[in-house]
Amino acid sequence: MPFADIKGHDLQIGMLQSDLRSQALAGAYLFSGQEGLGKFLAATTFAKAINCLDSEGDACGVCVSCRKIDKREHPDVHLLEPQEGSDALKVEDVRQLQRKVSLRPYEARKNVVLIREAHCLTAEAANALLKTLEEPPEHAVFILTSSKQALLFKTVISRCRIIRFAPLARQALEEIMENDFGIEQPRAHFLGYFSEGRIGYALALRESDLLREKNRIIDEFALSPAGSADTVKEKEDLRVILNVLATWFRDIYMVKTGLPHSELINLDRRDELIGFINRYAWTALDSIMNTISESLFYLERNVNTKLLLLNVRAQICQR
Ligand SMILES: [Zn+2]
Repeated sequence: MPFADIKGHDLQIGMLQSDLRSQALAGAYLFSGQEGLGKFLAATTFAKAINCLDSEGDACGVCVSCRKIDKREHPDVHLLEPQEGSDALKVEDVRQLQRKVSLRPYEARKNVVLIREAHCLTAEAANALLKTLEEPPEHAVFILTSSKQALLFKTVISRCRIIRFAPLARQALEEIMENDFGIEQPRAHFLGYFSEGRIGYALALRESDLLREKNRIIDEFALSPAGSADTVKEKEDLRVILNVLATWFRDIYMVKTGLPHSELINLDRRDELIGFINRYAWTALDSIMNTISESLFYLERNVNTKLLLLNVRAQICQR
């Protein structure tokens, strides 16, 4: 897919295209910004654009080179990413890559090395990589992506041209979802909020049953005292439940303060929300929302998921 299909990051794409068109590619790039922004998609498209056979400064998506990159079969485009079960990028892997890029490309203009979540490089691996980044081979471009730049070695960062990705404004993301991806309301509205402006995350969720699922969670855990905490075992499931409950109680709070209804996250259930204004006192809403956000905090510290959920439900049901 061409750069034009990457929505919401015009400034960043413009910088890359300017480098491509002026044939002033840096030896190394760092695509930085939180998870779910679409950094890796941008990095892959950049790799394609560098070597595309049909487009100047862009990725056609259909030439032999673009297709090989898509299928991860291109002999000159290499990917290093954390493997399941271990999130360390090891020095042996970096060395292997270095051997590959020291050679001229077989068929591409440039060898491209994509290093995904580069903060996972071990100290040894980062040091080894640094040697190459200090004097990158003419015919190679390194593209690092990282959602945790603070954990990345400063020496590595200093060798890269940094392209910073940021979340979009909620309204902007909602419009992109509707106009460019044909996602209907109220799904686009909810995704815009729920993804907190992270377009990659929103797009990953677009095919999911998220809207139905979030309504199930609201029915089961906020509206009915019957929902069972036993069915929730995975940390990720609880994270979704807590985040959905947070949107629900935040909305009740907002209706109570008289916020315009278009700002509601659960706009699809506006009438029910209005019906709840009198059920919860301000203090009750405060303590429910506090409990939810504390639970999200403890979840990251591996506190038992069932206990956390029981605690939140106890808070909700007391009211
Ligand atoms: Zn192409």
